[in-house]
Amino acid sequence: MNSAQWISKKLGKFTLRFKPYTLEMRHVFTVASFSRTTTPVVLTELEFDGLVGYGEASMPPYLGETQESVISFLNKIDLSHFNSPFQTQEILSYIDSLADKNTAAKASVDIALHDLLGKIMNQPFYKIWGLAPLQTPPTSYTIGIDTEEVIRQKVKEADQFKILKVKLGLETDKMIIDTIRSMTDVPLCADVNQGWKNKEEALEMAHWLKERNVVFLEQPMPKEMIDENAWLTEHSPIPTIADEACQRLADVTKLKDVYTGINIKLMKCTGMREAKQMAELARSLEMKVMLGCMTETSCAITAAAQLAPLTDWADLDGALLIANDIYDGMEVIDGNCLLPDRPGIGIVPKA
Ligand code: MG
Repeated sequence: MNSAQWISKKLGKFTLRFKPYTLEMRHVFTVASFSRTTTPVVLTELEFDGLVGYGEASMPPYLGETQESVISFLNKIDLSHFNSPFQTQEILSYIDSLADKNTAAKASVDIALHDLLGKIMNQPFYKIWGLAPLQTPPTSYTIGIDTEEVIRQKVKEADQFKILKVKLGLETDKMIIDTIRSMTDVPLCADVNQGWKNKEEALEMAHWLKERNVVFLEQPMPKEMIDENAWLTEHSPIPTIADEACQRLADVTKLKDVYTGINIKLMKCTGMREAKQMAELARSLEMKVMLGCMTETSCAITAAAQLAPLTDWADLDGALLIANDIYDGMEVIDGNCLLPDRPGIGIVPKA
């Protein structure tokens, strides 16, 4: 399944390579709307003057992109009219202009370009951005919706983490929280994935969860329920975070007063450039910032982690959930994110 060859395209002074790859999940992963055991990704490489930047597009099924759509997007790219990777803004604006959506495909080029730039400058990208790696929040670790027995097993396996992320949104919400609370006192965050449909019930749950040390609520109700989410945010004893409702930079200002904060993911927002703009805009609007991920290799995770020192909460467990990561990058030790002190995004292919 993972024997695909690299497709290589010479584009003027650049060479772009890409190939499909299938991530195998360590556990069946269940959220409010679906379950799955694999995640399709496309790996990219961008070469210039003998240096290679790495990138990745991850396509969980609900986002509407596939390996075929990403490869078809990447086949459209022509970089022959650019002379230097330092034409970063022009290059990324050109990539963004090639299609309306395809945000993961765009991110796979953005990440590779940032990695390449960091390698040319011989510095980790967080240093180029002037960010202090010790300010990176500990990452949460996700416990999917499951039976009591499996939840117990997963909580046991997660004993290094200082914060757990719990998927809610079905009939089992209180059982899941009670099960976890019978085992550990670590703070929890709850991701409802739009699963609740009634604002009064959502508020009641917010109070119930706060009493059990749940520190925020991610996407409690469907993103279309703007007034209801705003009402909940106004009354909730814990912050609300927009995930499905927040895709790109243009969404951020509209979400002020509807949610307390936003969850930024590289695959939603076309990559590192726009993710940083979103974090800075949210900060300027006095909104909270969470940094999330899809199921991804250490490539996209470590790319996102460059930005983590700017955020309040990090949810960067995507590479820990898979069995066949092909890069070494950000490490998680005692629940803390350790950014590699290597140029670019700092990943290396596993030996
Ligand atoms: Mg979410």
